[in-house]
Amino acid sequence: MFLYVGAGTVRRNDPTNLAHERTKMVESQLVARGIKNPRVLAAMQKVHRHVFLEEALQCQAYGDHPLPIGEKQTISQPYIVALMTQALELTGREKALEIGTGSGYQTAILAELADMVYSVERIPVLVYKARKVLDELGYFNVNIRIGDGTRGWPEESPYDAIIVTAASPEIPAPLTEQLTTGGRLVVPVGGRYSQELIRVERTETGLIQTNLGGCRFVSLIGQHGWRD
Ligand code: SAM
Repeated sequence: MFLYVGAGTVRRNDPTNLAHERTKMVESQLVARGIKNPRVLAAMQKVHRHVFLEEALQCQAYGDHPLPIGEKQTISQPYIVALMTQALELTGREKALEIGTGSGYQTAILAELADMVYSVERIPVLVYKARKVLDELGYFNVNIRIGDGTRGWPEESPYDAIIVTAASPEIPAPLTEQLTTGGRLVVPVGGRYSQELIRVERTETGLIQTNLGGCRFVSLIGQHGWRD
């Protein structure tokens, strides 16, 4: 069963807040490792990653590592966020689906780069927190719902881009089915403790898979992922 969480009030952040730390992150972690897409780099520079974290962890927000967000879940390392986002090749016109809202940080990056974002998260408390921060930042092109994202969000499909931010034993079939022709899906696939980041493109003749390299994510739990 899904619960829809609507948009609320706006409170924008001070744009100068930790801008220097974000510049350092973009240059030393992203550009230095080959992230080239100027729109992705601009979004990573713009979005205030620290506001998606609890206060005690905000000073570590721009470090080169994942961080805890509660409920045994994590916000991904900035480089992985940028790498996955770049692989989606967003131009600003897309309808994008995210599985695993978590803190809402990746959602905000997508909201900067796509037209509309749909995001599914299985843990209600994370949805409420993410929705609040995204509202405060003014991201009104984001719809979030609570549920099993391994089934996608069929009522709003098809999507030009789908990103899965938790690791699955295999590519969830409903997600490739909900891609447009020409649509791109990025998903970590493999075991519980290490995976490969797989990009799938749906073409008129079938699915083309590319391996973007090794990664490590928390588990995708649901009907088409891990069972627990
Ligand atoms: N993108 C997030 C961010 O920027 O903070 C990080 C996501 S965290 C690595 C993975 C998230 O996927 C967790 O919040 C977890 O609860 C969620 N998740 C796991 N299985 C899921 C499922 N079947 N449907 C929706 N969300 C799921």
